[in-house]
Amino acid sequence: MSVSQLARSIKESPTLKLNETAARLRDKGEPVIHLGGGEPKSKAPIDAVVNCAAQLNSGDIKYAPADGLPALKKAIIRYTEEHYGKLVGPKNIVVSSGAKQAIMVLLYTILEPKDEVIFPAPYWVSYPEMVKLAGGVPVVVKAEDGTFQPTAEEIKECVGQYTRAIILNSPNNPSGMMYSRDFVAEMVEFCRKKNLYLIMDDLYNRLVFDRKTAPNCYDFDKSESRNTKLVVVQGISKMYAMTGFRIGWALVNEEVAEAMSNIQSHQTSGPATVSQWAAIGALNGVQSSVESLRLTLENNRNIMVERLRTFGGVKVQKPDGTFYCFPDFSAYMKDSQKLAEFLLEKVRVVTVPGREFGMEGYLRLSFCGSAKEVMDGLERIKWALDPDAPNELFLGDRRLLRDWL
Ligand code: PMP
Repeated sequence: MSVSQLARSIKESPTLKLNETAARLRDKGEPVIHLGGGEPKSKAPIDAVVNCAAQLNSGDIKYAPADGLPALKKAIIRYTEEHYGKLVGPKNIVVSSGAKQAIMVLLYTILEPKDEVIFPAPYWVSYPEMVKLAGGVPVVVKAEDGTFQPTAEEIKECVGQYTRAIILNSPNNPSGMMYSRDFVAEMVEFCRKKNLYLIMDDLYNRLVFDRKTAPNCYDFDKSESRNTKLVVVQGISKMYAMTGFRIGWALVNEEVAEAMSNIQSHQTSGPATVSQWAAIGALNGVQSSVESLRLTLENNRNIMVERLRTFGGVKVQKPDGTFYCFPDFSAYMKDSQKLAEFLLEKVRVVTVPGREFGMEGYLRLSFCGSAKEVMDGLERIKWALDPDAPNELFLGDRRLLRDWL
């Protein structure tokens, strides 16, 4: 073996792989509909582009402090005060190359070998691999009642002497479900008492529907900020549709921030400065793009849920936020990997198997594309699976006849 045991234990990112597959098929002229994606279609806000372009035009693009430009930290402080009502200082912020790296560096910072990190299923695909990369052990909690949200009791039962941290992602990728205020309050208090890190992955907390708002964990934090183990992870990827800029951050206590910054300084020397200037533009600029994205997503969510409810065998829960829906397709096919492959082969629709998120029998369907893509994609899936659908379908000018039902 030429690669390490650690490398062999890490799976590739299934969602990034699907993006590649979809792009390859599209390049060949195949009429692919991508319901597997994890990024909004809209463009980056103009203030982000202008700020970034101004920096680029100066030609003066140099190293910055490993934990982020002071001007970006200032923007994050203002953002945190506005959206969380929480005053943090520059020494509580570590800016990374995406929320993904912020979580990764945080795990390197807080985990001893074999420490356990608990998170509920369904979970974001990267959590188990990131915990393993940092030498820890992922512990997945499944709700006994088969829902997407284990109770606080079910989570507490998994806590043992090696537990170091709990990760909560709300609203959740892939289910779109949001935790209640009571649940968040209970987990914040529990982790404070047990001296555990509570990592709130809040990446989607501005993309929430039905006039709801995401609970703010700081409302329930009674710990002193000097030694708080409550961590908030945020970033520009989803709310500003700026996935390619790769900027995210963690809000942590000063000791953890310093250690994270040291680790990051040896990994990347910090995120690209032009991207940081783009983030400053997005955070300080006109905010209308967030609301317009949220409204588009809410409309797409309604279309997706409405159509899915016309499927005889699909069980669907209406997402509270994000741009994902996580329906149960097990009545059609129990093996989600096979089902996703079948849908790609037969009707050229990309979906993500539920297995990747810790729930077999489900598919993650994204509604971050156009409403037309959502409608057409679901029409194709219905045709492929539902015996009541007409047995003829047109993909572009290609006429398909269904011969498998
Ligand atoms: N957390 C969750 C729950 C996510 O879905 C993602 C992106 N798919 C990330 C973190 C990482 O986001 P980024 O690195 O693009 O900021």
